[in-house]
Amino acid sequence: MTTLLDDARALAPDLVALRRDLHRIPERGLQLPKTQARVLEALRGLGLEISTGESLSSVTAVLRGAHPGPAVLLRADMDALPVTEQSTEPVRSEHEGVMHACGHDLHTAGLVGAARLLAARREEIAGSVVLMFQPGEEGDGGARLMIGEGVLDAAGERVVAAYGLHVASALLPAGLLTCRAGTMLAAADELFVTIRGRGGHGSMPHLAADPVTVMAETILALQSAVTRQFDALDPVVVSVGKVAAGTVNNVIPDTARIEATVRTFSEEAHAAVEPRLLRVVERVADAHGLTAEIEYARGYPTTDNDPVEVERVERVIGALTGGRGYLPLPRPLPGAEDFSYVLQQVPGAYLGLGATPAGADPATAPYNHSPQATFDESALPVGAAALAALALDRLAQG
Ligand SMILES: [Zn+2]
Repeated sequence: MTTLLDDARALAPDLVALRRDLHRIPERGLQLPKTQARVLEALRGLGLEISTGESLSSVTAVLRGAHPGPAVLLRADMDALPVTEQSTEPVRSEHEGVMHACGHDLHTAGLVGAARLLAARREEIAGSVVLMFQPGEEGDGGARLMIGEGVLDAAGERVVAAYGLHVASALLPAGLLTCRAGTMLAAADELFVTIRGRGGHGSMPHLAADPVTVMAETILALQSAVTRQFDALDPVVVSVGKVAAGTVNNVIPDTARIEATVRTFSEEAHAAVEPRLLRVVERVADAHGLTAEIEYARGYPTTDNDPVEVERVERVIGALTGGRGYLPLPRPLPGAEDFSYVLQQVPGAYLGLGATPAGADPATAPYNHSPQATFDESALPVGAAALAALALDRLAQG
């Protein structure tokens, strides 16, 4: 196993060069033509069966081992964010207002690294590895689209396990891997509310129906619902990030608007949160004789790691890093991830990988999505070796 990491380190200059190429050309959403072209170029000559997506610019590559056996899946997301780069990376985004602020460029280069490590071991492999290069993780549900286009069956049979990882520009020292059984990441929904009243003169609110006071009461009532209707040990997070109403101080507006993110950490809480929040919003408005129009968008579900696969992660990563490169994650992280759709279909594990820049404090370094987020490239070979090692270990099981 340690030779796998050594081999990955030998690939590091190539992987860093690829990552920097991708970092210069960040693209958003489901269509990433330049990124896709660069990935196809990087995979050339490895003897893979390659197909590209129809509704999105994905790349699916199947690596066949020399011997028959099951199929496993490794995944990297490839999309960037609408952020203007202010990082201290060695290269900068050349696309104005778009940045690889979530480190998906490292994921993509890392999966190419895993492909190269596995291709060099084809003779030892009994089975196949499906390499899933996915656009549209940042809100577009690209994983679900790729599942719809058959990525889980790309090897000709359903994969028996799936693995992926996410880098972090803070929280963890560079190169340290983490995981936990059960909920790894939150579910993320969105709540949009328009409170409809009746506008009027600010001096005579009794002749109007004021949506602003109802909006204020609704925001606080949502927080009461969170603390009174849900288990404190299975938390719910509701953050109203946007409010909008009115034009000037002495005019009561017709409507007021609230937009909130809703995070849950269990399927039970995820199922219960929508009806409970909607009831609060509707009835607070009703109590004052107004109405509330509500749009509730269910987003990515919780990312759930299979306990048996997490035991594999602990054993394999322990062996890969000589026991020094793994830290169990005590609590879920409140981010969300559409690899969750893959893990709803097949057992597997999603790992965290530290990429805090050398010399920075993991507790205070700018985190993913920040314009200042900077990722330590020393994490690249570790991620590549970890994915390859997990695939090899699962396939060796038969
Ligand atoms: Zn991300």
